[in-house]
Amino acid sequence: MKVTDHIKEANGKSLFSFEIVPPVKGQNIQKLYDNIDPLMEFKPKFIDVTTSREEYVYIEKGNGLLERKMTRMRPGTVGICASLMHKYDVDTVPHVLCGGFTKEETEYVLVDLQYLGIDNLVALRGDSMKHESQFVPCEGGNNYAVDLVKQINRMNEGKFLNETVEMDTKPDFCIGVAGYPEKHFEAPSLDSDLLRLKEKVDAGADYVVTQMFFDNKKYFEFVEAAKNIGITVPIIPGIKPIAVERHLQILPKVFSLDLPLALEKAVLDCKGDKQAIRQVGIEWAIEQSKELMAAGAPTVHYYSMGKSDNIVKIAREVF
Ligand code: FAD
Repeated sequence: MKVTDHIKEANGKSLFSFEIVPPVKGQNIQKLYDNIDPLMEFKPKFIDVTTSREEYVYIEKGNGLLERKMTRMRPGTVGICASLMHKYDVDTVPHVLCGGFTKEETEYVLVDLQYLGIDNLVALRGDSMKHESQFVPCEGGNNYAVDLVKQINRMNEGKFLNETVEMDTKPDFCIGVAGYPEKHFEAPSLDSDLLRLKEKVDAGADYVVTQMFFDNKKYFEFVEAAKNIGITVPIIPGIKPIAVERHLQILPKVFSLDLPLALEKAVLDCKGDKQAIRQVGIEWAIEQSKELMAAGAPTVHYYSMGKSDNIVKIAREVF
C-alpha cells in the first residue's frame, strides 16, 4: 500500500514510521531484526531503508603497497526491503539515489521493485562521495533528485528509457522526496531550496520527508512556506533523538542544522553521563513528537540509525 494511502486511511491521526540503515556487508542481518523487533509493537505503516554511496577502500597488497578500490559498504537495500516486507508484513520504502547509478541501472532497480511488489520509494540525489568536494553524477546518471523523479514518473506512465520495449503492466510508484526545514547546505537560500522542492513535487513526487530538525518551529514555518508556494502533498517530519554528546558537533556539521540552546545545555548538564544524555534525547524527541502530532503531522518518522531502544521509549510515550 502506498505511503500516501496509509496517510489518507489514518484520517488525520499521525502515523508511526522509521528509517533503518542496512548493516555493513558481512554483518549478520539478525542484528538488524533484533533492533526492528521491539519497534513492531507500535505498528509502523512503513519502514524506510537507506541506500549508501560507494566509497574507496584500501586493500593491502604486501610490501607496503595499497590498492584503492571503490565499493559499497552497505549494499542490500532492495533485499532488506523485500525481507522486512515478508517477515513483518509491513510496507517498505527503499531510498533510490542518483549518485553512483546510471539511469539504466536505476531502471533495473525499479523493475526489481515492481516484481517484488514494493510500490513506495524515496528519490534522492545522494551526497557527494567522501573524497569529492561536490556531487558528481556518474556518466549516464541523474544529476538532481528531480531528474530521478522524472525517470520514475516516466515508468509510471509505462515508458522505459528505451521506448522500443512495450510495458503491459505499468508500475505505480508512490514517490517521496527530501525536504530541508533548515535549507539544504548547497542551496543559495531557503526560498530557492523550496522552489527546488516544488519542482520535485511538480515532476511527480507524492510526499516529502524532512531532514531531521530539533526545533518544531522550523518545521511549522517550512510547511507554511511550502503551502504558500503551492506544495500541497504531505510533509512528513523526520525526528532523531540525540544519543551521545558528540551529536552536538556532528549533527550540525553533517546535516547543516541548528540545535536549540536549551537542548545543548541539557546535554552538557549531564557532564558526560552517557545514560543521562540518551535520556535527554528521548525526552526532547517525546516533546517534539507530541507537539507535531497535536498539530496534525501525517506521520512522525524516526531516524533509528542502528539502535532502537530510544525510539521504543519515545514511541511508548506518544503512540
Ligand atoms: P536535490 O533535491 O537534487 O537537491 C540537492 C541540491 O541541489 C539542493 O541544494 C537543491 O536546492 C539544489 N537543486 C535541486 N535541483 C536543482 C537544479 N535543477 N539546479 C540547481 N540546483 C538544484 N543520502 C543518501 O546517500 N542515502 C539515503 O538513503 C539518504 N536518505 C535521505 C533521506 C532523507 C529524508 C533526507 C532528508 C536526506 C537523505 N539523504 C540520503 C541525503 C541526501 O542525499 C542529501 O541531502 C543530498 O545532498 C541531497 O539530496 P536531495 O535528494 O535533497 O537532492
